Amino acid sequence: MSRLFSVFLAFWVWTAAASAQEFSGLARVDAANSRISDSGRGGVTLDLGLSQGVPYRLFTLDGPPRLVADFQEIDWSGVRAEELQHSSRVRQMQFGTYVPGWSRMVLELSGPMAVRRAGLTVDEVTGRARLQVSLDPVSAEAFATSAGAPRDPRWDLPDSARIAARPEPDENAPLVVVIDPGHGGIDPGAETDGIVEKDMMMTFARELREALLRAGGFEVVLTRDGDHFVSLERRVALAHQAEADVFISLHADSLSEGLAHGATVHVLSREASDVASAKLAERHDRDDLLAGVDLSGTDDEVTDILLDLARQETQPRTEALARALVAGMQNAGGPMNRRPVRSAAFSVLKAADIPSVLIEIGFLSSPRDLKNLQDADWRAGMARGIRAGLENWRASDLATRPLVRQ
Ligand SMILES: [Zn+2]
Repeated sequence: MSRLFSVFLAFWVWTAAASAQEFSGLARVDAANSRISDSGRGGVTLDLGLSQGVPYRLFTLDGPPRLVADFQEIDWSGVRAEELQHSSRVRQMQFGTYVPGWSRMVLELSGPMAVRRAGLTVDEVTGRARLQVSLDPVSAEAFATSAGAPRDPRWDLPDSARIAARPEPDENAPLVVVIDPGHGGIDPGAETDGIVEKDMMMTFARELREALLRAGGFEVVLTRDGDHFVSLERRVALAHQAEADVFISLHADSLSEGLAHGATVHVLSREASDVASAKLAERHDRDDLLAGVDLSGTDDEVTDILLDLARQETQPRTEALARALVAGMQNAGGPMNRRPVRSAAFSVLKAADIPSVLIEIGFLSSPRDLKNLQDADWRAGMARGIRAGLENWRASDLATRPLVRQ
């Protein structure tokens, strides 16, 4: 009797220790027990197997209709979208890290749908959890009323519309450069041969920061310093918050149109300079949508006009910056694109009062660029070129700015 009791006790202690250990780690997605499929009611069923229970929240977004599921950190490694996604009513899915400590899954729906039922159950014996969500079709009106990200201070963005009064240029002050490594977290950017744009740009951003800080005369702020998602709007907001003199977004996208290769500097314009640039800007906006960003109600006509006025003053400075960066990278050996300065409506370049450029330092879709991008010496050369470009631009900008103001 007492022996039986001690065996039972030992078992109890062992399971308690095992589950305590399990809970300290990240919940893992069990792809074999997860499935997204069509429901008989014209909707979608999501069934997600997890190694343990986690706090979560669900909401829908409009334009296009999407279901967003946020989780307190989940390990998605080894999970492929094709394994999970079997629904004809889900156009695309995306999942991964959102911000540190949080993970996100976004399903782009073929039409307006609402969450009819949702629940997370935890198996008492194994500790494994199962999230089950069913979505039913609803009218566009009903969808529009219920859609929107819930207000939660942990997710709120800082003010982005602030247009700071610029201080008089001071030639002794360091140049504040905000470096923006493209993509991140749930949004990987381009991927070729196992090289992922978000990781490559994180590496290059840190190398560029190092090159600028070593040279002196620069203050550097990164919009992200790790693998997490930052919305395009927030990147712009961070540039304002840092009171940036210059904003540089770094990319190495994949582009099938026109067989792009060589470094390109993009500036903001309503009309795109070419089809490929328009596609790039569109794709970046779409990456944001697929990461579950709510863009509804952000375009206010009056603000737009005010911003346009501010941009008119900034535009010539931005164009001079783009030319200086091209010259710097060219002198460092390039290779540059045959048309190195281009323009399109890139959302990330919309800070009206900060000269902002987006550099494609190469294209992952070009075998030559891909090889260069993986070469630390080549990247160091490009970082030197960008630094020289910034230094030259700064000298001429200081000389011409008082004239612009009169
Ligand atoms: Zn990109």
